[in-house]
Parts: sequence; structure tokens; C-alpha cells
Amino acid sequence: EYDLIIVGSGLYGCVTAYLAHQAGWRCLVIEKRAFTGGNIRDEVREGINVHSYGPHVFHTRHQEVWDFANRFTPFNHFRYCPLARYGGNMYNLPFNMHTFYQLYGTQTPEEAALRLRQEQGLYPHPRNLEEKAVSMVGRTMYETLIKGYTEKQWGRKATELPPFIIERLPLRFTFDNNYFNDPYQGVPMAGYSPWVDKMLEGTEVRLNTDFLADKDYWMKKAGHVLYTGAIDAFYDYVLGKLEYRTVRFETEVLDTDNYQGVAVVNYTDRETPYTRVIEHKHFEFGTQKKTVISREYSTDWKEGMEPYYPVNDARNQELYQKYAALAEKEEKVIFGGRLGEYKYYDMDKVIEAALNQWEKMQR
Ligand code: UDP
Repeated sequence: EYDLIIVGSGLYGCVTAYLAHQAGWRCLVIEKRAFTGGNIRDEVREGINVHSYGPHVFHTRHQEVWDFANRFTPFNHFRYCPLARYGGNMYNLPFNMHTFYQLYGTQTPEEAALRLRQEQGLYPHPRNLEEKAVSMVGRTMYETLIKGYTEKQWGRKATELPPFIIERLPLRFTFDNNYFNDPYQGVPMAGYSPWVDKMLEGTEVRLNTDFLADKDYWMKKAGHVLYTGAIDAFYDYVLGKLEYRTVRFETEVLDTDNYQGVAVVNYTDRETPYTRVIEHKHFEFGTQKKTVISREYSTDWKEGMEPYYPVNDARNQELYQKYAALAEKEEKVIFGGRLGEYKYYDMDKVIEAALNQWEKMQR
């Protein structure tokens, strides 16, 4: 009945639905939730686009990906420059000359580099996030800006996490607070939900429909299936359960036009129970009279919650590889996205992966 059934209407699913529709494929999107967009969804409150599932900032170094993203709705010129709060002080992120000045009083790149060398641990082959972070930014900065935040976010000791997580953050010897190195960055002016809904235009979508509850039925109806849900759930957890982290938000409307002066403040100490405070209007230079803020709390995922982050420690990676081996044997099912590939994907990488996968599917 369908050339392609896409399970999940997150970014991966929406990009593929758009490409399939353009190519004239008969395509159906099945979505378990009552709305499209997965975790990039936002909703308007007090005239402000509220990122319902956490702050999303689109960035890419590839012009093709940027052009693709802008095909649907235009993006603004937002630059992500979050701050960190620790012990009553505020620090700029990512790790740059402003941060070195605030923490060490160093004023030139030479002074900063010298100070960092005194602080850095010698780990030629860092085995975990802590060793990697200390070898990058030194122990003081690690203790102030990384350790508490990381352990709250992942619910694990930094010594039990892989080094690559911290490699996402730039370290630079210029006074530049841009969190990303990519030349293209912004937030869809109309919001993320209208952006992905534009991708879905012309495609049949069934909301409130649980693919796994009727797996055999749907499988018979499709030439190909793109599954973007959790890979262990697809196999009914036969090999065991993968772990995920999830976040929950306490969102409040405040009767002030500007609460914290910036889109995101990270609370990098252990004592504050939340990881960050998001003030949504600043992603779009909002001038509304009120503001909406969300405190973000990180916890382990349990059934019934929305999974957000794969936990890329050794146990989970090993288990994922076993599921991936099963997936490879599938004839008509392709697995994609953060949950389908158990991968800490950014939005631009999701688009790249979906574009590449689409090329392969057409062969
Ligand atoms: N991180 C940190 N302190 C911060 C911000 C980030 O230690 O103030 C670490 C933390 O381990 C986190 C990783 O850097 O998991 C990647 O951060 P990013 O902001 O990329 O995470 P995301 O936005 O995907 O949640």
C-alpha cells in the first residue's frame, strides 16, 4: 500500500518524508504522540516560541545543509552564547579568553596558555571524560564548569563517561563566546514546529498511532520502513534494555520582560538540582512584556518517559552493537536518528544522515 512507512515524526522522519514526497513515493508517517516534530517541537506561549523539549539551536558547517534547512522556513541570526553559574559567579562559555580571565585573571592568550599548562593533567590517552576535560582545560576549570554539570546531566561519574562528550565543546584562545565553531547558525523564525510541518506538507501523517503495538500489520503494508524509535524497543528488548537519559522541565510565565538577559544559563554546581535555566524569548530577540522560563532537570529514563539522550558508556555501546547486528539483517527496515541509531546526534547531523540514507534507499 505504501512505498515507505516512516515511524516517528522527528527531524529524521520529516526530512525523509519530504524527500520521498518530492520523489513521488507513496509515504505514510506514523507518530505515537499527539503531535509531530518529536523533541524539536515548540509551542507558542505569551507570543513566545517555547522549546518544549529543551533548547535547540541549529548549526552546521555545510552550506548544503544550511540551504536545505532554509528551504522550509527562514532562520534568524541567533548565536548561542550561554553563561555558567557557579558559587555565586558567572562565567562565559564555551572555554575561551573571557572564561580564562574570569577564572584566572589572565589577559593575553600567552598568559592563559601558560596558566592552563600549569593546571592541565597529563593524560596522553584520556580514558574517560574527566581525564579528557582535565587535559583540555585544567583541573580548576574542570571542577568549576564541567564536573557538576556533567554528573547531573548524565547521572554518572565523569570517570565513567566517554571522552567524546566533552570534545563537543570548543576551547579557544580568542574572546569569542559563540558556543559553536560552525559558520551557519540560527533558529527558525517561525519556530521549529512550523519548520518541520512544512517538510511534512503533502504527506499522510497518523498521530496517536503506536507502530510497535501493530508491528506486523504495518510491516505488511510497506515496501520500506524507516524506523526512528528506540532500537531496543523494536526488538522487544530481547537482548536487554539500553539506557537513556531524559529531561523534564518546570516552565513558568513571569511578569517581567527580561529574567536572565540570555537564552541559557548553565548551573554547573552539584547542589542546584537543575542543570540549566532557559529563557525562550532570547532565541528570537523577543520584545514581549512577559517572559517564559524553563528549569531543566535531568534523570534516568524509565518506561513511559520520553527518551532524549543515549548513554554512550561501554555497557550500552556493547549492547547497541548487538542490536545493530540484528538491524543489519533486516531486509526492509532502516533505523535512523538518535533513538534508532543510539547516537548523540545534533540536528545538522540528522539532516546529513537522512540525506545520505535517502541516496542509498533510491539505489
Ligand atoms: N558541559 C559541561 N558544562 C557546561 C556545558 C556542557 O560540562 O556548562 C559538558 C557536559 O558533559 C555535556 C557536554 O559538555 O554533556 C556537551 O554539552 P552540550 O551543550 O553540547 O549538550 P546538549 O546541548 O546536547 O545537551
